[in-house]
This record gives sequence, structure tokens and C-alpha cells, in this order.
Amino acid sequence: MATKRRPVFNSNNPATGEVVGTYPMLNKSEVAVLVEHARTASTKWQALSFGGRKQVLLAWSSLIINRIEEIAALITLETGKPLSDARLEVGIAVSHIGWAARHAESIMRTSYRRPGLLMANMSATVERSPLGVVGVIGPWNYPIFTPIGSISYALAAGNTVLFKPSEYTPGVGMWLEESFSEVAPFADIFTTVTGLGDTGSALCTSGVDKISFTGSTRTAKLVAADCASTMTPVVLECGGKDPVIVAADADIKRAVDATMWSAMANAGQSCIGAERVYVDEKVAEEFIARAIELASTIHSGAPGDANYGPATMPSQIKVIQSHIKAAIADGGTCVYGGPKSVAAPFVQPVVLIDVPEDSVAMREETFGPIIIINRVASMREAIELSNASRYGLGANVWSKRKGKQIASKLQCGMVAINSTFAFATISSVPFGGVKDSGSGRVHGPEGLLEYTFARTVVRTRFNLPLHFLSFKRRPTDDSLIIKLVKILKGRLG
Ligand code: NDP
Repeated sequence: MATKRRPVFNSNNPATGEVVGTYPMLNKSEVAVLVEHARTASTKWQALSFGGRKQVLLAWSSLIINRIEEIAALITLETGKPLSDARLEVGIAVSHIGWAARHAESIMRTSYRRPGLLMANMSATVERSPLGVVGVIGPWNYPIFTPIGSISYALAAGNTVLFKPSEYTPGVGMWLEESFSEVAPFADIFTTVTGLGDTGSALCTSGVDKISFTGSTRTAKLVAADCASTMTPVVLECGGKDPVIVAADADIKRAVDATMWSAMANAGQSCIGAERVYVDEKVAEEFIARAIELASTIHSGAPGDANYGPATMPSQIKVIQSHIKAAIADGGTCVYGGPKSVAAPFVQPVVLIDVPEDSVAMREETFGPIIIINRVASMREAIELSNASRYGLGANVWSKRKGKQIASKLQCGMVAINSTFAFATISSVPFGGVKDSGSGRVHGPEGLLEYTFARTVVRTRFNLPLHFLSFKRRPTDDSLIIKLVKILKGRLG
């Protein structure tokens, strides 16, 4: 009898289309078996204690640093990004592993709470425990940095992890598993499950204790729906349409430099990349002129030959093309590049100005090296337009004096003042969005606590001659409670 061949899929070099690897598509039952293994391993991983896990994670980060050229080359091969960008990505990912390893114990330390007057005979504590098994579903745009923001924090908290990488970057996912296995004290602590969307969906319904997803808002909704069927909690890191606000007192030279990099680096495939600029009309001409000048100095091409690479996901080219065309059809002007800047798989820089706010190019995530610059009469208008989006991931504000004031009014998860992207590289601060950009956080104490549950423990320290929580409660107890409530105006807690 002929044996059934295991379904596989290919990973391609997006710059050339060449096949660079072939990986198995894991089905529902295979995922279920791996979840069971991870569950068994989680007891041992938790028993290792914070110190033991820290040692393993720090050994992993050292191994990744020692082999940075190897993993950076693989990232470049599967995403098409320049080697220098891949190295930077690995460096930032490694710093998150170290931070999570070093801080897990203090973040999860039992906290002591005031029991309140009525319960003064009790002690009240909140303990933090790992969830058990965490499923991480990752994207292709930053195939190591993004998933490590969930994987390392979940591991440091004492969970075992199953990781489903994007179908465009399975090689990077497998490399992570293999490198971890070299430092792991036993098997099944961290496992990569390769496959397409169905494998991701299987992970969502496999009974893992939490899913941490990064990708499009559309897929996030499918993930949340799948997870709802098994009451699996989720962290959702989705798309954005990040605004850049430029005030009249901004350092325009620096603002342009950072904004163009934020918009174009990694071929514009950054969830926190600048997509729309609201610049004070008093400095708009200078900002636009400098943006055009800078755009003319950068170009897309194969790694080693360009400032940024191709579109990693071939289907994104259509989205980019349609946004440029819509922006022009809706009344916007191309001041650098245009529809002809798109020659798959590469997209050269495009600078558009004065695009109406209701254009799809202003509303939806483009995920390409396109920047739209619109003039505003005031910072109030800039804030209103920034907030008038279904997304709320990150934002950048450029102003010498009003940065904090403007930032405090923005409806988004992260703001960089006179900088860009910085919040993603600072391990101690949470990363995530509001509205259609997702819910929950990765990084920082908030990100680590996502992979724990709170266990409240209250304990009787001494007995009171009162019977509040008993059928023995007497009328004198009742009148004492009411007296206390009245005297303390309800402040019993
Ligand atoms: P998706 O959101 O479709 O994919 C993200 C991850 O989810 C991948 O690992 C994917 O697997 C997996 N997945 C797909 N379908 C399911 C499912 N039903 N259940 C569980 N997991 C699933 O992103 P794409 O890669 O298709 O990119 C589409 C768009 O998303 C981009 O054009 C961009 O606009 C946005 N995006 C935003 C990112 C961000 O950081 N904000 C990152 C990546 C994309 P597989 O790859 O095998 O389909």
C-alpha cells in the first residue's frame, strides 16, 4: 500500500522567487500531539524556577549573538531585507530575551495588599503563576523580533511555547527552535509548528492557555473567533496607520530623516511605520522639499544593493499599487515617484501630498514604502485627524516644546516624541495598540504578565469576635457593620 505523502510548502527568496526551503504543513492532530508534549514539559519548566529559566534564556541569547551572521543571513534570504537591517533586528530581539529573563522574578513577585478595616484580621496577597502552554502566531515582516517579544516573555514567566511562524518565514522559525534546543535542559519547552493559516487556526483551538498573535486585523478577527470557541484568551498585535505630527517648532531636518526611514525602511513593511504625516502649514513646504530630496537618495533592490528590499509577500504589491492609484484619483498629488514606482517585487519610494482623508490610501494600512504628507492649520487639527482612524497603534510627534502635550491627546498605544520606533526597542515599556490595532500588550512588565494568571490568596491572621461571613451573624454584628459604613462613609476597603 502506498504511504500518503506529508503535505509540504515552500519558502521562497522574495527578491528572486527561488525556493529556499521546504517545510511540513502540520495538521490539527499533529498540533494537538505537540501541545500535549508542551503541557507535560511545562510542569518541569515551572519547577526549574526563575533562576534556572534565566540561565537557559541567557544561554539562548548568547548563542543567538554568537551566531548572528547565520540567522541574519536566513532572515535576509526569506524576507529580502538588507543584511544590516536583519542584524539590527536580531540585536533588538536578543535584548528582549535578556530583559525578560532578568526581570521575570521581580515582576511576578507576590504582592501584598491592604485588607481594609472590616477585614483587618486577614492578610491579602496576589500571586502570579504561569498559564501553562502559550501559542505564538507570528508575521513575516520582523520574523525574529516580533515573535521573540511574546516567546521570550512567555518562557521567562514559566510557560512552554508553541510557535507558528508565517508561511513566508518558516526557516527563521525552525532556526529559533533548533537554536533553543541546543541550550534547553529537556525537550518540548519551545517548539515551532510550520504550516499555513490552517495550522495557525489549529493552534488557536488546540487547548493552549493563551494565543499571542501578530499580523493583520482581518486575521486577528478570525483568531479571536477561533479562540472564543475554546475560551482561549488572546493578545492581538495588529496593523496600524501610524500618524506623524510635525509642529511649527520641530527640528524639520531630523523629523524628515526619521519619518522617511520609518516609512520606507524594511520596504515600508512595519506595523509602526509612518504612513501619514500631518505637518503645520507654516513648515510644510520645507518638510515636503526635504522629503523629496531624501527620497531621491534611497532605492529598493536585492539585498546588498539597496536601502531596502522587495515586498516580502507578493500579494502586497497589489495593495500598494491600489493605494497609490486611489490617492491620485481622490485628488492627491505624487511629488516623488508614482504608479510606475511599482515593479514587482520592488517598490521605489513614493511621496504623496494633499490626499483627502477619506481616501483608502489614508484609511487603510498600505505596508509599502509610501508616505502621504498633508498640511494642517493647527496642532488641534493634526490631533483630530490622527485620532480619526480605526487604527491606534503608534504615533510620532515632532515638536521642541509641545511634544508631551500633543502625545497625551493621541488615541494610540505608543507615542515617540522627537524620535521614531524607539518604544519597540525599549524592553521595559509595553508595546501594543488600541481600536483595530489590537488588544493586550507585549514587552515590559505588562507584556510578561499577559502570560500569567493572578491568584488571590487571603489568610486569617487572627480571629475576631464578629461573625460577618457566617450563619452565626447576630443583630449586633449587623449594627456594627452599618455603624462602620456610616462613620467611614463607605471606606471599609
Ligand atoms: P496574516 O495576518 O494573514 O498572518 C499573520 C500570521 O497568522 C501568519 O503566521 C499566518 O499564517 C497566520 N494565520 C493566517 N490565517 C490564520 C488563521 N485563520 N488562524 C490562525 N493563524 C492564521 O498576515 P499576512 O502575512 O497575510 O499579511 C497580510 C497583511 O497584514 C499585510 O499586508 C499587512 O498589512 C498586515 N500585517 C501586519 C503586521 C503587523 O505587524 N501589524 C505583520 C504582518 C502583516 P500564514 O502566513 O501561514 O498564512
